[in-house]
Amino acid sequence: MATTPDPVEPQPHAAAPRAAAAARKATRHRGEGQWGMGHFTPLNANEQFKKDDDGLNVRTRIETIYAHRGFDSIDPSDLRGRMRWWGLYTQRKEGIDGGKTAILDPHELDAEFFMLRVRIDGGRLTVAQLRAIAEVSQQYARGTADLTDRQNVQFHWIRIEDVPAIWQKLEAVGLSTTEACGDTPRTVLGSPVAGVAEDEIIDGTPAIDEIHRRFIGNKDFSNLPRKFKTAVSGSPQLDVAHEINDVAFVGVNHPEHGPGFDLWVGGGLSTNPKLGVRLGAWVPLEQVADVFEGVISIFRDYGYRRLRNRARLKFLVADWGPAKFRQVLEDEYLKVQLLDGPAPEQPSGVWRDHVGVHRQKDGKYYVGFAPRVGRVDGALLSKVAELAASHGSDRLRTTTEQKMLVLDVAEEQVESLVAGLEALDLRVTPSPFRRGTMACTGIEYCKLAIVETKERGRSLIDELESRLPEFAEPLTININGCPNACARIQVADIGLKGQLVIDEQGNQVEGYQVHLGGALGLEAGFGRKVRGLKVTSAGLPDYVERLLTRFQADRAEGERFAQ
Ligand code: SF4
Repeated sequence: MATTPDPVEPQPHAAAPRAAAAARKATRHRGEGQWGMGHFTPLNANEQFKKDDDGLNVRTRIETIYAHRGFDSIDPSDLRGRMRWWGLYTQRKEGIDGGKTAILDPHELDAEFFMLRVRIDGGRLTVAQLRAIAEVSQQYARGTADLTDRQNVQFHWIRIEDVPAIWQKLEAVGLSTTEACGDTPRTVLGSPVAGVAEDEIIDGTPAIDEIHRRFIGNKDFSNLPRKFKTAVSGSPQLDVAHEINDVAFVGVNHPEHGPGFDLWVGGGLSTNPKLGVRLGAWVPLEQVADVFEGVISIFRDYGYRRLRNRARLKFLVADWGPAKFRQVLEDEYLKVQLLDGPAPEQPSGVWRDHVGVHRQKDGKYYVGFAPRVGRVDGALLSKVAELAASHGSDRLRTTTEQKMLVLDVAEEQVESLVAGLEALDLRVTPSPFRRGTMACTGIEYCKLAIVETKERGRSLIDELESRLPEFAEPLTININGCPNACARIQVADIGLKGQLVIDEQGNQVEGYQVHLGGALGLEAGFGRKVRGLKVTSAGLPDYVERLLTRFQADRAEGERFAQ
């Protein structure tokens, strides 16, 4: 989440792993439901509803039936299936605690309200678009508007009756919710400083636009085995978490051909995390959309459709390996050989979020700022839009760290803009705790959540700022409300996986399994689950304080907390 709060299907019951493995072995010879091998018979309920009717078709029913007749008129396979193709998930009923999640069917937790995700490809927003988001938030979403870790904005408390009017308002300024969720090509991540950063290798924006134009809302690609995540960045700071996307294009300089992209496939977190792998191929800007089409087509045709928890591209990539994947891509889909190319280099910075004041290549400045754990609201976003406009900017960006940027600020306006943002408690020079902490949606709205996350993240930041005012090390603290990975816990320095734990008095209370030492970048790897190390929510500030204090006391010369 979140954060890309991205609730996934309920996983098979933990008590049955051996039976599931045996069943998988027995059925594998009959195929995993790959279309490219002729297996078109739906093998589960999700594949069935997708075959029955394309998810994109639900929009007409929303506009002509459901918005007029109300929540109870919604067909269940639209409600819990196809609505996602337009960015809509039912949100969690109020007042149901996390312990109940284990015993209730998640569908029993449906409230009569929706989360609505707005896709913001490349994180690019104009002032008019931000104003429209702020207005939707205030008019239809009880003021909610969270920044996610996939550069999107999410509203809550959306009524089905209001959805057509919301679409009208968003689409009037060029925003959409098309395929923001569902088994589709999701929002394309892009460098928040594309086209402006002084150190940029290549601007990937034309490729993002081309992918959007050709493939979003395209019914040739609206029935994928599962979600398909894409990242394109020409920044040497590796600023879009490319390692955990299904396909990623990472800016590199080819020694003979100049700036282009290094191609990665098969990354993804959730309960079976895998880092993307390089195919060793160099892709020029004008070829990115074609290569995207090849990779997403392989996923559509050869991706596994039998089990939802094996349906991401990462499982196919793991089974085929990078050499076979590249060969199929070139021989069956592109019909050309890709050039070999170099790997990305070590970034010069330690943060990826572009927070702070930075000079652009045109001599103007961009200003990155940090709310707490991506939590903003319509009133605040409206003020940010006015601040940007009054300081001569018409461009804002969201980041994959739940932060925002204002671009194109003249040097003489920077000080005033920074003061305006800070006055709104949007820190341009945040503490490492505020800068490095992310949280998914959690139990406030997410049906799969076991514990609270956003408020916990906010209070943890405040506690650590007051207890460790001198701490200045870069670090990441990622908080999830359940075993899924919407806030990327596996690749954080301190990853906190929400679960119920036993406190000192023997009571079952909200808490977290601790993972330590994860990282993205050239040293990317998953954090170690510290055996038996679980903390209660109430004990979290004490635990993190102890951990950081011990690090400061024991650190070797030059050692950083972050990898
Ligand atoms: Fe994702 Fe779980 Fe957080 Fe819900 S509680 S947003 S499914 S990590």
